Amino acid sequence: MLDVFFSVDVEVWCDGWDNLDEKFPEAFRRYVYGPTAHGDYALPYTLRVLEDHGLTGVFFVEPLFSTRFGSQPLQEIVGLLREGKQEIQLHLHPEWVDESIEPLLENIEGKRQHLRYYTRSEQEILVAAGKRLIAEAGGGECAAFRAGSFGFNRDTLTALVANGIRFDSSYNATIFGLDSGVGPGQVLVDAFECDGICEYPMTVYDDGTALRHAQLTACSHREMEGLLWQALETGRRSFMILSHNFELLNTTRDRPDDVVVSRFRQLCAFLDRNRDSFNLRGFEGLTPDLATLQPAPLKSPVWKTAMRMMEQAGRRRFR
Ligand SMILES: [Zn+2]
Repeated sequence: MLDVFFSVDVEVWCDGWDNLDEKFPEAFRRYVYGPTAHGDYALPYTLRVLEDHGLTGVFFVEPLFSTRFGSQPLQEIVGLLREGKQEIQLHLHPEWVDESIEPLLENIEGKRQHLRYYTRSEQEILVAAGKRLIAEAGGGECAAFRAGSFGFNRDTLTALVANGIRFDSSYNATIFGLDSGVGPGQVLVDAFECDGICEYPMTVYDDGTALRHAQLTACSHREMEGLLWQALETGRRSFMILSHNFELLNTTRDRPDDVVVSRFRQLCAFLDRNRDSFNLRGFEGLTPDLATLQPAPLKSPVWKTAMRMMEQAGRRRFR
């Protein structure tokens, strides 16, 4: 049995940083609901398909935007996830720090995109703020964390321990992982412990041309299914899949991306069918089963890469 996590990073962007207050209501509607002629393809559709299959995802919710726009929109996101019986955990995009109405830190000068650009004590303050915002919005006590854009470093783990957060999923060997200071000189691909934190890294795989992470928009269903079986057969402890609240929509977010929607539906049906092999779960109640030795990244045959490239080319018609 392999523990599989379907993680969804939930965030709202206003396409730039000008006229934020004016642009926010429409941005919220598009990113959170994603209305199209065929239905609401952001959170509502995602939640419905998970619920139809009785599956639990992990929703890493970004709360710092609410320091600008108030807690109501965050409460609305939390309410949708609670109603969908999904797990809520913490995601932070420090891009919002300098946009907050009340200063979150002293001496904020301009934008610093990644958490790793903040000192350990600043990270501790930001994690505390995020955790409090989620709790105040009705999301409960977060036990797991993911840094925005995977932009963490080793100080992040200490900041999490200081805030009583036990699990992290910020390590990504394709982005920032290798120079994060966590496991220097190693490519970490399965659950491990570091500085008192149980780290559940993004699942990455070698597609014959490059190392990629297991994301709905970046990986065909054929690849994903093959990788899941391979992870099970090679005794991996964890398999972390990435998605976003807006990932089933096209880039202009006005219609569904049928290819990604189909990948998502196929993945849910597959996980539902194969419950005796794959345990889709969250972090609540998780007893960590950590890898003693780090395996090599999973491998996917290059013919599947070629098939995915053709599928990706087909997605252009949804843009
Ligand atoms: Zn994010």
